[in-house]
Amino acid sequence: MRERGMARLGTLVLASVVAVAVLVGGGYWFLVRTAAGQDFLLGRMAGAVLSGGLPSEFDGLRVFMCGTSGPLAAPGRAQTCVAVTAGDSLYLFDAGEGSADVAQLHGLPTETLRAIFVTHMHSDHIAGINNFNLASWVQGRPAPLKVMGPAGIERVVAGFNEAFAIDRGYRVAHHGNDFLPAELGVMHAEVIAPGVVLQDDGLRVTAFAVDHGPVKPAYGFRIDYRGRSAVVGGDTIGRESLTVAA
Ligand SMILES: [Zn+2]
Repeated sequence: MRERGMARLGTLVLASVVAVAVLVGGGYWFLVRTAAGQDFLLGRMAGAVLSGGLPSEFDGLRVFMCGTSGPLAAPGRAQTCVAVTAGDSLYLFDAGEGSADVAQLHGLPTETLRAIFVTHMHSDHIAGINNFNLASWVQGRPAPLKVMGPAGIERVVAGFNEAFAIDRGYRVAHHGNDFLPAELGVMHAEVIAPGVVLQDDGLRVTAFAVDHGPVKPAYGFRIDYRGRSAVVGGDTIGRESLTVAA
């Protein structure tokens, strides 16, 4: 009787071990092999970093992907956007639809947003510009938002400024000019050419031409800060300019 009990116990233990192994293996497979699992892991890692996972005295480049999809709908993903923090400032490279939501939900300090760099004027790279402007304005950005990109960016920015002029008026009327200074809600456009386009508190941003035909001009950007660098390639299909920049 006792031996039969011991055998049954042994079978139960073995079954439990197998079940745990299957669960662990399945969880690992889900996290590593599926898009949803990878998104979950990335979100947890980014959350840890942005919520203080690094020492407060950390003063280097941080790169956060606030959008990774294109113009076609992708569940759970915003359109193209790369956020970079350097020192006390936030910079964006492209701002597709939904990316401002991702940035806010992950606690990016939009009040420190200094500029948005645009690689090219495809909709999935620019559709979220105004939402970043609004979010950073409400959060207390102290200067007008600069939007820098290839020729044509002045038309895009003028269009956004005009399209949301009525909305800005309502918001200033609601909150008051002291809380939402009207002049800080209007974006400023700057047309850039290849070369160094920003030199700011140790940060250097260099634009370079990339092949994204028939889109011309299209730029990539190299970001340098305190001995570290990152490269944003836009939608280029050419590798040579990217390799040189990197
Ligand atoms: Zn494109």
